[in-house]
Amino acid sequence: YLQSMPKSETIRIREKHVGAACQLFFRSSPLKIVRGIAQYMYDETGERYLDCINNVAHVGHCHPHVVEAGRNQMSLISTNNRYLHDELVILAERLVKTLPEPLSVCFFVNSGSEANDLALRLARIHTKNKDVITLDHAYHGHLTSMIDVSPYKFNLPGGPEKPEWVHVAPVPDVYRGKYVYPNDSLNEEELGKLYASEVGKICKESKRKNGGVCAFIAESLQSCGGQIIPPEGYFKEVYQHVREADGVCIADEVQVGFGRVGTHMWAFETQDVIPDIVTMGKPMGNGHPVAAVVTTPEIAKSFADTGVEYFNTYGGNPVSCAIANAVLDVIEEERLMERAHRVGNHLLSRCEQLKHKHSLVGDVRGKGLFVGVELVTDRETRTPATAEAKHVVNRMREEKILISRDGPDSNVLKFKPPMVFSTQDADRLVDTLDRVLAELDGTRTSIKLQVLVTPLEENNDASISASVQQSIKST
Ligand code: PMP
Repeated sequence: YLQSMPKSETIRIREKHVGAACQLFFRSSPLKIVRGIAQYMYDETGERYLDCINNVAHVGHCHPHVVEAGRNQMSLISTNNRYLHDELVILAERLVKTLPEPLSVCFFVNSGSEANDLALRLARIHTKNKDVITLDHAYHGHLTSMIDVSPYKFNLPGGPEKPEWVHVAPVPDVYRGKYVYPNDSLNEEELGKLYASEVGKICKESKRKNGGVCAFIAESLQSCGGQIIPPEGYFKEVYQHVREADGVCIADEVQVGFGRVGTHMWAFETQDVIPDIVTMGKPMGNGHPVAAVVTTPEIAKSFADTGVEYFNTYGGNPVSCAIANAVLDVIEEERLMERAHRVGNHLLSRCEQLKHKHSLVGDVRGKGLFVGVELVTDRETRTPATAEAKHVVNRMREEKILISRDGPDSNVLKFKPPMVFSTQDADRLVDTLDRVLAELDGTRTSIKLQVLVTPLEENNDASISASVQQSIKST
């Protein structure tokens, strides 16, 4: 009966009984999504949307093999992992097979936040150090412990204060970061070294003052920071600095793992490093809450040696494990990594072409089906085109294509579609984007657009879209 409730009623009840702080896309005119198939989502009227942002529905919305695995196991038993179960050990073995040595010990949890929280706990116990290094604009989860290491949240005007044991290193963004290409006339490797030396400085200081580092935590490709691809060699240098200061390296693969980059199962592999702890989530259950931490026998032993047993009611329950195993089946059987590589390259090169047509497109970057298009009002100064990016997201929604934007200035268009995305989908996405950007070309008066984005309107996507369109029409 829930699906037959009028949308206005769904909105009314949500506004009354669900926390206002809870995020809602297109707040003034939200979407009510009732069904999903592969790369498509459907609203209550049957309207179909091309989903270009849902990296959770990794093997496609409601994949029948995954649905069946969950349904079957749910009808047999769902209990906790204090009993033996084959689905759990099979999953552990399969995950470990995808990872380099010595990453071979798994802990199962329910969300990316829980995975990162446990990773930090393992790091603290193993190193006995406190200082944690995180990257600027990073997001690692909604738990209190994770907000502490997430500048994406604590940097906000109303955000909590950064704890003194948290140290923020600059994000290795070679387009609009501290050191940029080509302005600083450095090659990629030199830029990687420069950014890594920033982490090195923090490590040295931590060693001198506090005896050493606890952990360095980073997404292998920073998604929340605006689809950042670090320069080659960056993580290798960083890991060296961190290990010299007795810290452990945590790779957050919650968004970018499970083959999204196309060439490798895990995004850290593109940088030829081996973390001490890897966290994974989102795509792992294709929409079902399941996540994991994988670490080395040495770190797992330090944890066990405390004598404090680890128990997580739902972590590693047979239903979650059966679903995660089914997701791995589909990735393998449908060769989704190869597909991400092929379709991702096509998407990236088509987006590159947009750079030659629209001055708004400042930078295009990506790996596999992880692509970012950064909009700027001026290519020389690389001034973020925040209002324009907002307008584009709203116009794409009108065209029944769902994309999002991110980065500290919310000016990076983000594409991270389900891995079943096709070259035709990529063409439709880019052709439509081309048309929407063309609407902005020539008629664009960025000052006017910027002025329109008042704090009040920031919460009001549709009215922005309407007013921006009005301004375009009138210029
Ligand atoms: N790490 C990263 C990089 C994420 O993007 C997120 C979620 N956006 C998390 C951790 C937290 O995951 P969850 O929402 O499943 O707790």
